[in-house]
Amino acid sequence: LEKFISRNRQYSCQPTTVYRPEDARQAERHLQDAAQRGANLRAVGSFLSPNQIALSQDAVIALDRMDKVIRVDRMARQITVQAGATLRQISEALDRQGLALPVLGSISEQRIAGAIATATHGTGVAYPPLSGLVREIELVTPGHGILRLAATRDRDFDAVRVHVGSLGVVTEVTLDVCEAFDLDVTEGPAPLADVLERLPQSLHTDHYRFWYIPYADIAWEWTGRRVEPGGRPRSQGHMSPASFWRDRVLGHYGFEALLYLSASFPNLLPKINRWHSRLQFSCPRTSRGRSDQMFNMDCLHREFVSEWAIPVDATPTALKSLQSMADAQPYPMHLPIEVRFVRRDDAWLSPTYGRDCCYIGIINYIPYGRVISHDAYFHAFEDLMLQLGGRPHWAKSFRAGHEILRDLYPKWDDFQKLRETFDPRGVMYNSYTERVLGPVSGEPVQRAL
Ligand SMILES: Cc1cc2nc3c(=O)[nH]c(=O)nc-3n(C[C@H](O)[C@H](O)[C@H](O)COP(=O)(O)OP(=O)(O)OC[C@H]3O[C@@H](n4cnc5c(N)ncnc54)[C@H](O)[C@@H]3O)c2cc1C
Repeated sequence: LEKFISRNRQYSCQPTTVYRPEDARQAERHLQDAAQRGANLRAVGSFLSPNQIALSQDAVIALDRMDKVIRVDRMARQITVQAGATLRQISEALDRQGLALPVLGSISEQRIAGAIATATHGTGVAYPPLSGLVREIELVTPGHGILRLAATRDRDFDAVRVHVGSLGVVTEVTLDVCEAFDLDVTEGPAPLADVLERLPQSLHTDHYRFWYIPYADIAWEWTGRRVEPGGRPRSQGHMSPASFWRDRVLGHYGFEALLYLSASFPNLLPKINRWHSRLQFSCPRTSRGRSDQMFNMDCLHREFVSEWAIPVDATPTALKSLQSMADAQPYPMHLPIEVRFVRRDDAWLSPTYGRDCCYIGIINYIPYGRVISHDAYFHAFEDLMLQLGGRPHWAKSFRAGHEILRDLYPKWDDFQKLRETFDPRGVMYNSYTERVLGPVSGEPVQRAL
C-alpha cells in the first residue's frame, strides 16, 4: 500500500485505493467507482499541507499524471494547465513566453489544484490569493459529472475556486498571468513599533511582508519592488561563501540543536530567539532576481503552523497583543511570526472573501523530529484571531469547526447547498471536512474516516 506523508511528516495515510487518472473522463470513472464502493475519496496534490485536509484511509485520487501545460496564450496573458501541474512547472512555462504568475507564496512545489483549493497566497495588498487568478476551471463532480465553469459565465464559479477538496476533482485550470518581472528586494531589521507606525506607507510598495521575532522585539522587513525583467541577479549580504558558516551551519543546524534542547528547557527559548535574531536578522541586505525565485524561500525546518487572515486594519492590534504575549512568557513562542498582506477575493470560502487581509502565521518547529508541546500557544493565538474577526488558512492548524466558521463566511450556506448538489452522498469526505465543513445532509455513504 502506498503511503502519503505530509511535508512536516506529522500527517500520513495509507489508503486502500489510489487512483491516478490521465484525463477528466478517467477521473469521472474513478469517482463513480469510489461512489459505488461506498468509499470516501480525497483528491491530493503534492500532499504538502500541514494538517489533515488531504488524508483518506479509504481512497485517494492523485493528479500527478495530469501535470501538462495545455496552452499559453501570450496575447490574452493566460495559461491553461492540467490540475496536477506544480507552481514551479507553471512559472517555467510562463517564463519561456516572457510571462509570470503575478504573486507566489514561499514555495512552488504545490500542484495548482491544491494551491487553489486552499486559497494559497503570497504577499502584496494589491494581489489576490492564487484562487483569485482563476478564469476557468474543469471540475469532475460525483453528482453532476464533468463541469466547465468560467468567471464570465457561471453563477457557481466563485464557489468552486476555493472548495477545500469538497466539491469534486479539479482537472484543468485557466489562470490570468502577467508580463514577466524581476523583484528588487530590500530586507532589514526595525523595531516593531516603527514597523507598525509606517505600515500604511509600507503597504503601498508592490510586495511587502515582515517577520516579528518574539522576545527580541524586532521585526525583519522584506520589501519587493517589481522591475523590468532580465537584470543581472544579485545578492548582497546573504548566501555568500563567507556567510555559509553563519547561515547554514549555525543558523540552521545550530539553531535546530538549540530548539531541540529547549524542549526540555523551555526557559532557554527567549535567549535562543535573541541569539538567532542577532545572527540572522541584524544586517540589512538586498537582492534581485526572477520574480518566482525571489518570492520563494528556503523553508528548511519541519514545523507546525497556524495562519489566520484578519482585516488589514487589525494588524497593529494583533501584533501588539502577540508582543504582550511574548512579554508575559506564558509559553514558548518560536520565531518568527510571519505577517503578509493579501487583496480581497470573491471566492466564497476564501479567507480574504470581501476584504483586504493581513495574514499572520505562527510556527512551532519539530527539531530533529522532536514534537514540542505548542497547544496552549496555538489556542491563545486562535482565540486572538477569532476576536479580531479572523478566518483560518484551510491548509494549516486550527481548532475551529463548522459551528464557528459558518458565521465567518457570508456565503457559507450557499456553499453548503452547492456541496449537496455536487456531492450529494458525501464522497469527497474525511474527518477534516466533517469537522470543518460539517456533514453533507444527503444519505451518507459508509464513512471510513
Ligand atoms: C513548506 C510550506 C510552505 C508553504 N507556504 C505557503 C505560503 O507561502 N502561502 C500559503 O498560502 N500557503 C503555504 N503553504 C500551504 C500550501 O500552499 C497548501 O498546503 C497547499 O494546499 C499545498 O498544495 P498541495 O498540492 O500539496 O495540496 P494537498 O496538500 O495535496 O491538498 C490540499 C487540498 O487541496 C485539495 N486538492 C488537491 N488537488 C485537488 C484536485 N485536483 N481537485 C480537488 N481538490 C484537490 C485536497 O483535497 C486538499 O483539500 C505552505 C506549505 C508548506 C508545507
